[in-house]
Parts: sequence; structure tokens; C-alpha cells
Amino acid sequence: MNASSVAAPATEAQQASSRPTIGVLALQGDVREHVAALTSCGAQPVLVRRASELASIDALVIPGGESTAISKLLEVFELLEPLRARLRAGMPAFGSCAGMILLASEVLDTRPDAQHLSGIDMTVRRNAFGRQVDSFETDLDFAGLDDGAIRAVFIRAPWVERAGDDVQVLATVPSGPFAGRIVAVRQGNVLATSFHPEVTGDLRVHRMFVDLVRAA
Ligand code: GLN
Repeated sequence: MNASSVAAPATEAQQASSRPTIGVLALQGDVREHVAALTSCGAQPVLVRRASELASIDALVIPGGESTAISKLLEVFELLEPLRARLRAGMPAFGSCAGMILLASEVLDTRPDAQHLSGIDMTVRRNAFGRQVDSFETDLDFAGLDDGAIRAVFIRAPWVERAGDDVQVLATVPSGPFAGRIVAVRQGNVLATSFHPEVTGDLRVHRMFVDLVRAA
């Protein structure tokens, strides 16, 4: 084997890790916005609807949408157990809003038959800030992000009511009636936000996630 033939696979491996393949769970919700953000961050997004599609992904994004609808579809598409298994095996994941709810180990104020993935040791309260009309935006300090506060859009959002000992709190609501409520967390390589970084054009949270996937 000559030098160039051994060099080639290394280069491919380097390319793959610099442009990780990130699945976006595409059963329901704002899939397109996450795909666009991931593409802008230099990742290779792929839509995930089937268990067989999990084999090719380095990480998964679970979009905002409606968690009980996504839960139902996870059962219908037989994705629940395969996803839980990948998360247990350490696959990085990021969930926004409904995605946060699905990544929880316990969910309050949901349907009794709703399923979740237990990617993060946390209790999440669904629709915690109130009804759809109580949706709001605010600026947040987000641990690990440079260049100042991030604009956070909350749409019938959940909050984290209990964060386990190994869970790092990345952001809380700064002021007002919900001051101190936990709205962004990380445990290992799993990240979750109550709000929607995919809708503002500020790519810093997605960049943080893609960097974490590259390092994983
Ligand atoms: N309220 C929704 C739910 O229960 C989440 C809202 C969202 O993702 N914007 O799943």
C-alpha cells in the first residue's frame, strides 16, 4: 500500500467529522427551520422518519411542534425504542420546545399515554408559561455562548421543573413573573431549550450543538 492510498481514508474521516450527519426528526413540527440552521452551521442534515435511518446519523435534532403528536407518531413509526437505545448509547441530541419535552425523563401536564425518551434527567412541565396567547420573546444569557444575550422565542413553551444532579442549567428566564425558570439545559451531549433558536436566524445554539457533535 502506498502513502496516498493510506492517506485517503483519513481525509474522508476528517471530512465526515467536520461535516457531521445530523438527523432531524421529521414526523411533525418545524423541521425545515432546523434543517436550514444545521446546513448554515456546516452540518449535513438528513430527515429521519424510519428506524433504519438512524443508522447513518451522528446526532439527532427533535424540532418544536406538538409533543403529544410527535409521541404518537414515534409509536406509529416504531421509533421509540430504537431512539431510546441510541440515546442510551450516547448519541448527541438537541431538542427545542416539544423536542425538550420529548427528551425529558418525566413530563408534567401531558396526556397519560404520552411517551418520552429520557435523554436528560429532568422533569419538564408542558405548556408551563400558559396558553398559545401567552407566547413571548425575551433576551437570555446562555452559558457558553459568546457575543451577548440570545433572543429567545417561547411558543406555548415548557420549562424544566427539576434538573438532575448531572444536568447543567444553561439559561433561565431573567425577569418578570417567570424569573428564574429553567429554559435551557445540557446533560453530556444532549441539549434542550424551551425556546426556538431555529426561528431567529441566530445560529449560536445550533453551532454549539454541531461543535459538540464534532467533538463527540
Ligand atoms: N406546547 C407544545 C407541546 O406540548 C410545544 C410547543 C412548541 O414546540 N412550540 O408539545
